[in-house]
Amino acid sequence: MTKLRLAIVGAGPAGIYAADILLKAERNFEVSIDLFDHLPAPYGLVRYGVAPDHPRIKGIITALRDVLDRGDIRVFGNVQFGRDVTLDDLKKHYNAVIFATGAVRDADLDIPGIDLEGSYGAARFVSWFDGHPDFPRTWPLEAREVAVIGNGNVALDVSRILAKHADDLLSTEIPANVYAGLKASAVTDVHVFGRRGPTSVKFTPLELRELGDLPDVDIVVYDEDFDYDDAARDAVASNKQVFVIDKVLNKWRERPAGTASRRLHLHFFAKPLEIVDDGTGRVGAIRYERTAPDGQGGVVGTGEIRELPIQAVYRAVGYFGSPLPGVPFDKKHGVIPNREGQVLWKGDPSFGSKGANTQMYGVYATGWIKRGPVGLIGHTKSDAMETVRHLINDLGNWWRPESPSEQSIVTLLDERGVEYTNLDGWHKLDQYELALGTAEGRTRIKVVPRDEMVLVSRAQG
Ligand SMILES: Cc1cc2nc3c(=O)[nH]c(=O)nc-3n(C[C@H](O)[C@H](O)[C@H](O)COP(=O)(O)OP(=O)(O)OC[C@H]3O[C@@H](n4cnc5c(N)ncnc54)[C@H](O)[C@@H]3O)c2cc1C
Repeated sequence: MTKLRLAIVGAGPAGIYAADILLKAERNFEVSIDLFDHLPAPYGLVRYGVAPDHPRIKGIITALRDVLDRGDIRVFGNVQFGRDVTLDDLKKHYNAVIFATGAVRDADLDIPGIDLEGSYGAARFVSWFDGHPDFPRTWPLEAREVAVIGNGNVALDVSRILAKHADDLLSTEIPANVYAGLKASAVTDVHVFGRRGPTSVKFTPLELRELGDLPDVDIVVYDEDFDYDDAARDAVASNKQVFVIDKVLNKWRERPAGTASRRLHLHFFAKPLEIVDDGTGRVGAIRYERTAPDGQGGVVGTGEIRELPIQAVYRAVGYFGSPLPGVPFDKKHGVIPNREGQVLWKGDPSFGSKGANTQMYGVYATGWIKRGPVGLIGHTKSDAMETVRHLINDLGNWWRPESPSEQSIVTLLDERGVEYTNLDGWHKLDQYELALGTAEGRTRIKVVPRDEMVLVSRAQG
């Protein structure tokens, strides 16, 4: 019987779902899967993106862990594709590879002043508060007034974590350095800026509503933003999600002014134009243009320019994928070019396919690196189904590896001195983090330094 030796690069939800779906799929060949991740812990953005105060979503880790605990997928953590293993290595040892490397970088926002001191990408801040090992341990939180640019859930996550009192995060798994950083924060006002109106936001109602329950944080909305046109009224009437969002916002409008020590302001119809220098190379203000509905669900500039003093700004305008050595990359969209998960390239000119987008046999993509950084964890499942279907049907075009034995990749990593971790190592780290939590009366405290994660994972016994 034919056997598929498959490498999956990326142990986030997309990679784990792809492995699970393939193992359960109807097929006439055997399967053996190795799952690689450059982090010593699996689960990708579920561990390092989803906000710590969203335990229900973090709980998806339990389902992903159940898949790994079945024991039919080998896990190699702390192995970076492109550095520790290359595409040529994978071709020698596997029949195919699925890239599920997600997106971790901030998309750019091209406005003057965005590079000033005190201007940050949301993705970096998220990595800090979620304890990602490859980011600095400290975060500057001296600003009293902060702007967050963006009207999606990541903008809400960032604003909520900035506005929330650190003690209200103690029930979560936040690492000690993050608690200490947030505890010392000087913030009093967080201003969220959206170019469009309240009926065009990308927030989900649940995330928005949650803001209203933050202890000692008042939500401030402005009456001038609720002068709806027909398109906005239609959206409220025809779309349940927009209806709920509108209801939540209007409830806040009716609340009397609060007396909380921190405020979270939602500014709509406000298009950021420039981050203004305070004269020392630091963020001093945000300059923005008031926009107005254009009658078709969009907005136009009104020419009215406003300025608000701030000392820090976070852009939450989207994530962006990173290129992988030897793998085609679409620089414009930040994804691996593909057709339903089959990776495409310009072709090997010696085969006469120069310039055409032809299938790169044996190479597949799934998750955020396949379709861009949009969508929830659940969407990576349907994504994986599509990719795996093609992988199965492409049997005739798989690579023919010279050393397909399961031992050969282990030998290669050992020869290169790669300190890889495995599933057993993850269990040890998991237990260790739970024990750290118990000692402080908390559920879990995350370990942040990579060397400590590796040490705990590779400990004998
Ligand atoms: C801030 C934030 C909050 C979110 N909150 C929610 C939420 O509340 N609910 C929800 O449903 N969705 C949420 N999402 C979306 C969700 O996280 C994504 O849909 C999902 O994680 C995408 O899965 P993925 O496997 O494609 O990518 P990822 O989760 O990013 O996993 C990719 C994996 O690939 C690994 N990798 C990358 N490069 C390499 C390499 N060179 N070598 C080896 N390994 C590599 C990474 O370490 C990572 O583990 C959120 C996203 C963000 C950014």
